[in-house]
Amino acid sequence: MLLLLPCIGNSMWKRLYTSLSTVLVWLVFSPHCLLCKTETYEDNSLCGLCWSKLSFITGNISKKCGRPLSFTDANALCDCTSRKSLYQAVRSAMIYDEAASKLLHNFKYYGNLRAKRIFCNWMLRAGEDIISKASLITAVPLHRNRLRQRQYNQSLVLAREIARATNIELVSEISYSE
Ligand SMILES: [Zn+2]
Ligand SMILES: [Zn+2]
Repeated sequence: MLLLLPCIGNSMWKRLYTSLSTVLVWLVFSPHCLLCKTETYEDNSLCGLCWSKLSFITGNISKKCGRPLSFTDANALCDCTSRKSLYQAVRSAMIYDEAASKLLHNFKYYGNLRAKRIFCNWMLRAGEDIISKASLITAVPLHRNRLRQRQYNQSLVLAREIARATNIELVSEISYSE
């Protein structure tokens, strides 16, 4: 940056320093969109354009796998009902498309954990009916080598947020046996 000043004294240096610090603080800490980094009004949120790119799952869904069902055939059975599975019910906040993938990628691989609160809110909304029946919260485990590389398990980060918001006990590791 080049500055052209008519003259400068001690007090002007001080004022200039204060102004530059303010600009720097604004640049570093002003709220930015979690996806495209443009300025937003609220911290840890999305701008209108990025928000519109996400496809939230609402309306008629499969009670088991959580996938959206056709509006024209609301009574249709999802193909998941004929398959044997270890889970009783799954809920997802949004369709995994390009925008969702980028958002999750930043969260999962680049340590952009600022999104945890907004993700938690979306997941709470999507899973309202199953969370109310839950007796504990846990996370998908991460292999220790991956954990060493990444330094955090993104699933556990979200599980902690959800446990905090719902007051449901968090169990960080569970083992399964048939
Ligand atoms: Zn954006
Ligand atoms: Zn289904």
